[in-house]
Amino acid sequence: MTGSATVPPPGPAERLHAIVEQGLCIGCGLCQAVAGPGSISVRRVASGYEAPVVTGPLDHATVDTIYDVCPGTRIDGLPDRLVDKRTVVDPVWGPWRRIVRAWAADPDVRHRGSTGGVLTALCVHLLESGQVDHVLHVRASSTEPTFGEPTLSSTPDEVLEAVGSRYGPTATLRHVTDALDLGRPLAFVGKPCDIAALRNWGRHDPRVDDLVRVWLTPVCGGFGTPDATRGFLDRVGIHPAELTALRYRGHGCPGPTRAETADRVEERHYLDFWGDDESQWTLPWRCKVCPDGIGEAADLAASDTWPGGSPDRVTSETDPGTNAVVARTEVGRRLLAEAEAAGAIEVEGDIGPAEMGEYQPHQVRKKYAAGPRHEALGAAGRIQPVTHRLRLRDLAAELPPDEVARQHEGVRIRIADGRATQPTPSIDATESPTGGSP
Ligand SMILES: Cc1cc2nc3c(=O)[nH]c(=O)nc-3n(C[C@H](O)[C@H](O)[C@H](O)COP(=O)(O)OP(=O)(O)OC[C@H]3O[C@@H](n4cnc5c(N)ncnc54)[C@H](O)[C@@H]3O)c2cc1C
Repeated sequence: MTGSATVPPPGPAERLHAIVEQGLCIGCGLCQAVAGPGSISVRRVASGYEAPVVTGPLDHATVDTIYDVCPGTRIDGLPDRLVDKRTVVDPVWGPWRRIVRAWAADPDVRHRGSTGGVLTALCVHLLESGQVDHVLHVRASSTEPTFGEPTLSSTPDEVLEAVGSRYGPTATLRHVTDALDLGRPLAFVGKPCDIAALRNWGRHDPRVDDLVRVWLTPVCGGFGTPDATRGFLDRVGIHPAELTALRYRGHGCPGPTRAETADRVEERHYLDFWGDDESQWTLPWRCKVCPDGIGEAADLAASDTWPGGSPDRVTSETDPGTNAVVARTEVGRRLLAEAEAAGAIEVEGDIGPAEMGEYQPHQVRKKYAAGPRHEALGAAGRIQPVTHRLRLRDLAAELPPDEVARQHEGVRIRIADGRATQPTPSIDATESPTGGSP
């Protein structure tokens, strides 16, 4: 026999799985909403993450749409129509209208909030003022305590139940089309990648722009890997099967990481979960190459205000919590002003991009590195995320050539040694499906 065997082109499932295998899936669940649960189920897989598993017929056209909306493959900044002559565009921090330090006026919300409770206070204000009927956001999972799950809150109490940051896998958009089917105005709170995904879906489904009236995001340095969370549980002597609840932070700023079983509570400092500095953070690959951890496509982004990016063990014991809040659009600027006037939040004063850089040095570094990291993915024959309006090329052009080369080499090494790769998603037979409403 002569000649070489012909390799068949990848089928739809293989193309979908490539996003996961190349470490670009964040498990947001949008592909399930797009294809329908009869074709794709985003659920806990053997790797411990949530990822899409093909459960029924899937064609190339649907996978083309998924590549166009998945925040692993496409991430855009603020739509042009939301930028006007009053918008300032900072090279790193992107478009903004006003940046302030603020907190929830209700001391209980401030205390329970991840930082200062601003996102929760704004959502409550939006419901109470009748601007939206629902808030689509996430709460602690009802089936897997280390995960988050999507929830549609229609009352202030429901919003408050979802307070706090969740650092485990969280399929924020798994049920987004059900929320849109209600045909009622809503606010959306999601990580910057969730925001990018829903903005992407808005190019296909006109209901997004019609119904999603306010887009809110926590600034995000990345979520914790399932292995890191298991490691934390090991260190506090809790087997994952015993765990009944996990609060990553909140009830103080940042508040303790609190693991509960039927008969025991273990609390540790936030730094005992994450480590004392950025070099100890264990993040999914997608988060390491994230081009937008700062929520450029949201109306308003809220962050911590710890100088250097991490809390101090001593002062954090009594820190009441202060958010930095970046209002990017007229909707965001107006919401901030209205919520302050209505007594929902307290604004300490105005700040700017320089202070944001002091609070978030890791975001500044990653913003500069993202362009070279993406180019290195392309050079290695990997999926290179498509980005628009994030200024990545301009920022990369400011880097010295040896730093660009270092970023390329870092990606090449991580691809070669497997750190940028995930197994083909397969159902973890030991786990129950993860849920969420609506
Ligand atoms: C994974 C992750 C990484 C983060 N990294 C940084 C960082 O590097 N620097 C920084 O300054 N801040 C970071 N934050 C943001 C910070 O923890 C606070 O969320 C932010 O300051 C807002 O605080 P708050 O008190 O106003 O939020 P809250 O009032 O407590 O409201 C939080 C809101 O976020 C939603 N939410 C919580 N977890 C998730 C999730 N996993 N996915 C989608 N929505 C969620 C909740 O449903 C709730 O509506 C991160 C948050 C997350 C979830």
